[in-house]
Amino acid sequence: MAAADRWRIRPGSPLTLAEVDTRGADGAPGDKDETIEATSLLTIRLAELQERLWAEGRRSLLLVLQALDAGGKDGTVKHVFRGVNPAGVQITSFKAPSEAERAHDFLWRVHARTPARGEIAVFNRSHYEDVLVARVTGLVPEEVWRPRYDAIWAWENHLATEGTEIVKIFLHISRDEQAERFRERLDDPTKHWKFRLADLVVRDRWDDYQRAYTEAIERTTTDQAPWYVVPADRKWYRNWAVSTILVDRLERLDPQYPESPDDLTGIEIT
Ligand code: AMP
Ligand code: MG
Repeated sequence: MAAADRWRIRPGSPLTLAEVDTRGADGAPGDKDETIEATSLLTIRLAELQERLWAEGRRSLLLVLQALDAGGKDGTVKHVFRGVNPAGVQITSFKAPSEAERAHDFLWRVHARTPARGEIAVFNRSHYEDVLVARVTGLVPEEVWRPRYDAIWAWENHLATEGTEIVKIFLHISRDEQAERFRERLDDPTKHWKFRLADLVVRDRWDDYQRAYTEAIERTTTDQAPWYVVPADRKWYRNWAVSTILVDRLERLDPQYPESPDDLTGIEIT
């Protein structure tokens, strides 16, 4: 079993988020410092694999990152991709949809940001918000959000068939850890921009969100587009886990440097 498989949610297996550890003692290569060291090596490996993917130019990778507020989506992107050539990575943060976006089907805006061949695309929030916040806050009625699981399933399957490797990660934090991170944001004026009063309204619906996440993950985890639930209370464990998953999936993809389209035999540079 690859190390990354410890966090993978298998199709058909029930998920109880409350029973999934948010600290993540398991599997780390050592203590905090040793794990950070191991993560640095994975960062270098990720950069190599991304260059191969880019050079090969046939396939792509889509990383979907979901979490509750203060779950660490931004920090994950910042740390995990720090070694990668920015030319080949496209990161999109999805906010509440604009009027133009709302005038289309819910997959329209995300489809426009999927990776081209050779690219890595990262979704910081995603089409899953349309079965999470949309469901919990009643933005749309059940007869609208419920069929979306099947729509997501079919759309992701389509992308995978066309050559996009899909990696979906839920950064799983505890309610206590969220409180801690909110307090840090409140206590530090340089972090006030990250904190909205509305975050507290969402926090009050904690159980509803856990339920919505559980159903979304159970209904849409597939062999081609699996979900991983990553313990995210400790940032160094989270960064190591996400790096491990990405390296695992890219190694399975095994992108190859292509031959030159030209015949280079006997060429001398004068
Ligand atoms: P943040 O991630 O803190 O920048 O906040 C982005 C906000 O956009 C969150 O409150 C999300 O719930 C909201 N959001 C993202 N996607 C959607 C969506 N499809 N429908 C409604 N709200 C959304
Ligand atoms: Mg926020």
